[in-house]
Amino acid sequence: MKAILCVSYNTNIYYKKHTTGLVCGILIEPLTFLLLLTVKVALTYKMKNMEVITLSEEEKMSRRKIIGGLGVGLASLATAQVFAAPGAQHKDSPAPPLEDPTTKYPKPPFKSQSQPWPGLASKMDPKPDHGEQSYKGSGRLKGRKALITGGDSGMGRATAIAYAREGADVAINYLSAEEQDAQEVIALIKAAGQKAVALPGDIRDEAFCKKLVEDAVNGLGGLDILVSNAGRQQTHKSILDITTEQFDWTMKTNIYAPFWIIKAAIPHMPPGSAIIGTTSEQATNPSEDLYDYAQTKAATTNYVRSLAKQLAPKGIRVNGVAPGPIWTPLQVSGGATQEKLQQFGGQTPIGRPGQPAELASIYVQLAASDASYATGQVYGSAGGAGQP
Ligand code: NAD
Ligand code: MG
Repeated sequence: MKAILCVSYNTNIYYKKHTTGLVCGILIEPLTFLLLLTVKVALTYKMKNMEVITLSEEEKMSRRKIIGGLGVGLASLATAQVFAAPGAQHKDSPAPPLEDPTTKYPKPPFKSQSQPWPGLASKMDPKPDHGEQSYKGSGRLKGRKALITGGDSGMGRATAIAYAREGADVAINYLSAEEQDAQEVIALIKAAGQKAVALPGDIRDEAFCKKLVEDAVNGLGGLDILVSNAGRQQTHKSILDITTEQFDWTMKTNIYAPFWIIKAAIPHMPPGSAIIGTTSEQATNPSEDLYDYAQTKAATTNYVRSLAKQLAPKGIRVNGVAPGPIWTPLQVSGGATQEKLQQFGGQTPIGRPGQPAELASIYVQLAASDASYATGQVYGSAGGAGQP
């Protein structure tokens, strides 16, 4: 009873003082004041969802300080609004139209065509799509530093474009005969606002592979993504048609070069780095005319799995991408017979070859830090016909 009277007495005095208008700012309890301020900040965020996305780092910091200062419970209310903002933004942006994968890109029959090895993407008919017009980044690889072999054309070029638009600096290796394709890629990386490093040279040479990695590290200021993608594929009807020199060429490009390049790269790669090898559906379902090439892809899938185990304790992930039939210069410069080219990709359930652009997001996913539990994996993209 005494306590009730006491509370009632104090409330009465407070009420009287408050209503008289005297020193009302002083009499409002500090906690109440903080609560009101928090509600105001939270409401401001809610009213200006779009603004949260475009705030400068300085503004974000000062707002965070205000919120942080209000205490854990109150701050979480405002923080929830901040995290809710990007989702709200997507709600407002128009959805892209659905695309039917069977009609999205050219289907066979294709024109008969042949180029001297290694071939140029710019001379193919139809021209491959590497995502030049379509790939949109969202900062998934911001600050990353990537070396991509075979980065001038095909999957390597699609990956270079995607990585740059995701915020990575990119070095590409290619053959000097591919300078024209390579310069287009360099321009696209720069257009994305990223550093581009052009490193031409033949990876069949061990000394060059070591220098390639050193030059990439110096040019980029470090290295945390390596895409070992360059490859040699030549069709031969019979094993009897393959010379020792040709066999050695395929082995040097597809097996020795990744060994030399990965070996040189590992000492530069901090925990969180990623190595990605381009393997093939040929690793598990070899074609009769790709005797030497197919076994190098089995080796690639295999090194992905062994290295993943070996490098996991260092925090370096190793994964592979296994394409099916993809429309690239490799196929029109000796990789496929003219009969196969004319019907290229037609045997897949999707009924057409893949375009390099359709695989870029897989290379992004495997490199991105949020894929931190994926290592020793091979992700396929083969139009429904092949397995990784
Ligand atoms: P591509 O011709 O565009 O790329 C291959 C690149 O390898 C060339 O651009 C070239 O720069 C590089 N290269 C070859 N020999 C080299 C050497 N000695 N030194 C330096 N660079 C050399 O063709 P792509 O199809 O994009 O090939 C990329 C990878 O994809 C290859 O490993 C290939 O085996 C693999 N792959 C391709 C297909 C397909 O259907 N196109 C399917 C499965 C796997
Ligand atoms: Mg090329």
